[in-house]
Amino acid sequence: MAAQQNQLVWQEKAACRGPLADVFFPPSVVERKNEKLAREDRAKQICRECPVVADCREYAISIREPHGVWGGLSEQERRQLLTH
Ligand code: SF4
Repeated sequence: MAAQQNQLVWQEKAACRGPLADVFFPPSVVERKNEKLAREDRAKQICRECPVVADCREYAISIREPHGVWGGLSEQERRQLLTH
């Protein structure tokens, strides 16, 4: 319960809340590699200014979140962390 409450607290401070959230996840249409990299770069710029980046990254890694940019890391970057 405490862990769930802690999770809610950091998510309330997330810099990606609101209309900017779209850049953190792939669109519903096919995305080219250069488009994906550009979108992820935009998301990571927001993460760099986010006050809860460490909590977010830890959470995404702990649940093995398979999609999107979390804590300044793409899904591939998180996978690499888990395999090394
Ligand atoms: S670190 Fe990035 S993905 Fe995580 S809450 Fe902040 S802005 Fe959102």
